[in-house]
Amino acid sequence: MTLIAVSKTFPAAALEEAYEAGCREFGENYVQEFEAKRPLLTRLHGARYHLIGHLQSNKARKAAELFETIQTVDGERLARRLNEQQRPLDVMQRPLDVMIEVKLGAEESKHGVEPGEIGALREAIAGMTNLRLLGLMTIPPWSDDPEATRPYFRQLRELGERHGLRALSMGMSNDFEAAIEEGATHIRVGTALFGRRQRP
Ligand SMILES: *Cc1c(COP(=O)(O)O)cnc(C)c1O
Repeated sequence: MTLIAVSKTFPAAALEEAYEAGCREFGENYVQEFEAKRPLLTRLHGARYHLIGHLQSNKARKAAELFETIQTVDGERLARRLNEQQRPLDVMQRPLDVMIEVKLGAEESKHGVEPGEIGALREAIAGMTNLRLLGLMTIPPWSDDPEATRPYFRQLRELGERHGLRALSMGMSNDFEAAIEEGATHIRVGTALFGRRQRP
């Protein structure tokens, strides 16, 4: 079980503090915001950074340079762009870790592939030598009741099993317990660690 400390909107000092408390995995939503923070984090040896916000193809190069894992791959075009990137020397030796973002609960989530599209995207990524597909990620429709969200977590686990994908990134501050019970391998926790964000 990997705890991802979601540090979007918080300054580099907040990541340092979390690192000192033992956090090694961080989640950020915006490429531009993290590009500004990244040079301030050189002391965080061994820290790994996950992009958990939507990624536009035109920012794929920058994202591949900045992040260890892109959790929000939602199409073959974006995957191909990521696969084409020349990554910096220190990370070029290994493939870029990616997850497929899955859209569950239709209308509310803007991004992600439909469950029926996972197979084709998985096949496409399997042929991309610079990418390593870890598993699936989802952001279910928001609810303050974890029991309302639980069926989505269960659904993601079933999809992972069906497609032979082990990693499941699901669960946030208000519902990570339910996500863990349903098989989450990565939980993404912001507010419960850093407090409330000033801006979205
Ligand atoms: C902001 C964010 C989180 C963290 O949400 P909290 O409720 O603050 O824990 C997790 N996942 C994604 C995709 C996010 O954008």
